[in-house]
Amino acid sequence: MSYILKQQLVPGGLTNNPNMPLKSISYVTIHNADTYNLTANAQASANYLTNNSQGSQASWHYTADDIHVMQSFDDSQECWHAGDGAGPGNTTSIAIEISTNWGFVAQGQTQAGVKNWEQATDAEKAVAQTQFQKACDNAAQLTADLLKKHSLGIEKVVQHNYWKSSKYPTGKDCPYAIRKQLFGTSWEWFLGLVKKYYDGGTIDMGFQVGDIVQIVGADAVYTNGVPVPASVKNRPFTVKQVNVDKLLLAEINSWVYSKDCQLVSTPVTPPSTDCVPKADYDQVVAERDAQQQRADIAEGKLAHIKAIVE
Ligand SMILES: [Zn+2]
Repeated sequence: MSYILKQQLVPGGLTNNPNMPLKSISYVTIHNADTYNLTANAQASANYLTNNSQGSQASWHYTADDIHVMQSFDDSQECWHAGDGAGPGNTTSIAIEISTNWGFVAQGQTQAGVKNWEQATDAEKAVAQTQFQKACDNAAQLTADLLKKHSLGIEKVVQHNYWKSSKYPTGKDCPYAIRKQLFGTSWEWFLGLVKKYYDGGTIDMGFQVGDIVQIVGADAVYTNGVPVPASVKNRPFTVKQVNVDKLLLAEINSWVYSKDCQLVSTPVTPPSTDCVPKADYDQVVAERDAQQQRADIAEGKLAHIKAIVE
């Protein structure tokens, strides 16, 4: 563990937030802080939460920057970060915010009092890139630690975008910087880091091409956000492709999240048809026939002798 974990737990929870335990610890949800001041690091996030989120209904468990991971709530506490009210995002997942304290906003974003992306110098962007990649790296290590601690598979790491609500029917555009692949990051890159820390990069994603799976997730959506219809669920489909956290299924020809799938069966490797060379096979058959012939002759002779004796 190369990040420095510091606890600054919010005593007694927040007045505007639920002070109740999670229904279950089933997911880890990744966010980007989208606060771009140079001073908006993990410590500042923790201070914001200790300060009762300045009265807003927002809370999360951990914030990672390039040096620290600050923990503000116990893993088992419900926080409000997914925007889905009493839905599974808020009630069954641990939230990690990744700091974006670059001193200028992300491409396509605006924030009062902070420089735009276009105003940042190349030197500032180089510093921000190193800083952001390290913050993501720290968050990935923390994610791997949490997966192991709570016996979860890597398919349980989701973007904030995964959780839908009436306000964001296709999910919020978060973690924004990772989704926009800024500074050489991407969601696949991030999950790759998580896998690396989970067990040295050899984690079995659980599914492989040829497996028969069925879609069982109650809120299952295709990766384009369209809900999977009930008529498609609980039916066997063959896995055509596997890509980190999603599967391409035959017949459907759409990508679905592997966390929504359940294994039905793994194909049994058929016996090889050329395990016995043809020449050997022919020889075995010839010997068998010859033995049978000798047996027939012997039986014939025996019958003949019997007939004479009797
Ligand atoms: Zn978010």
